[in-house]
Amino acid sequence: MSTEPTRTDVNTLGEFGLIDHLTRNFPLRQISSVKGIGDDAAVIENGSFCTVVSTDMLVEGIHFDLAYTPLKHLGYKAVVVNLSDICAMNAMPKQITVSIAISNRFSVEALDELYDGIRAACDFYEVDLVGGDTTSSPKGLTICVTAIGQGEKDQLVYRNGAKKGDLICITGDLGAAYLGLQILEREKRIWQEHPGVQPDLQQQQYIIGRQLKPEARKDVVEIFRKVGLKPTSMIDISDGLASEIFHICKQSGLGALIEEDGVPIHPEAQMMALQFKLDPITCALSGGEDYELLFTIDPSDAEKIKFLPEIYIAGEMLDAADGVKLQTKGGNLHDIKAQGWKHF
Ligand code: ADP
Ligand code: MG
Repeated sequence: MSTEPTRTDVNTLGEFGLIDHLTRNFPLRQISSVKGIGDDAAVIENGSFCTVVSTDMLVEGIHFDLAYTPLKHLGYKAVVVNLSDICAMNAMPKQITVSIAISNRFSVEALDELYDGIRAACDFYEVDLVGGDTTSSPKGLTICVTAIGQGEKDQLVYRNGAKKGDLICITGDLGAAYLGLQILEREKRIWQEHPGVQPDLQQQQYIIGRQLKPEARKDVVEIFRKVGLKPTSMIDISDGLASEIFHICKQSGLGALIEEDGVPIHPEAQMMALQFKLDPITCALSGGEDYELLFTIDPSDAEKIKFLPEIYIAGEMLDAADGVKLQTKGGNLHDIKAQGWKHF
């Protein structure tokens, strides 16, 4: 009698379940490993300073589509998404490494364009490219960027530091990057059916820009320094507000109330959501790739952010028993659902 080996589909665990499963037997052995898996970046102690490390992989056909993503933008974005994780620790990005796997479909000229974008990000954020790896791939392009940052040990901010009564803050605006992607996907379908038709994207420049050229909020971390504010917890908004507030709630052992009225949404995103018959707040909660910061502050620090541009108070941290809720403009309370991700 033969016993079939167990075969569990990776989709049964989901992204976070899979990460937990794969990394469950890796206890931290080194005193210098201050924070391992589970935050926006790992933290390694060097005296009173800490080194902060984050890595992300982008795969053609899954994370980007070269039909509408210029290689230069792709290079820029691949760097930015990693710098965003460093900023989410309240640290300053300093260096990156870039590893690429390429098929022979890519010419030197094409890779030059990719690196033009990487260079533009290095120039703008003042980070140094210090290494990487280049290898071949049977098909398509994969880019893996690792970002290294630095912060004073007592200034780093984790996902688990929120306290009951803390104010929930959001930078910039949410939902636009997702709507930008919907437009690009729509234009791609039109183009596939009617080659030669040139899309007119003049009216949607803001939201398309948010999808193709996101920025990391290094400026916000600098402002925190200037006004002497240390958030109690922080995460970057890469997967949508719903998913990120859940991370903060889970790791801080709390619940939260988000007010729809307090969630910043750009007018162009509002308009486009309605055109796609989507609720703008749903785009903010479940869209992704805005790379804004979600953070909590002690209410006694409210004065410090009151007059700062692009920082909005959107709610309050509650007891875990109160759940994670959205108060709509109409005054109704809804449960916010943890948004899973499905890439496989
Ligand atoms: P983010 O959305 O901030 O980029 P992720 O959700 O990708 O973070 O990752 C969550 C945590 O799990 C991070 O600490 C990351 O370093 C870690 N992680 C993700 N994938 C793996 C893996 N394959 N092996 C070990 N650690 C991983
Ligand atoms: Mg992150």
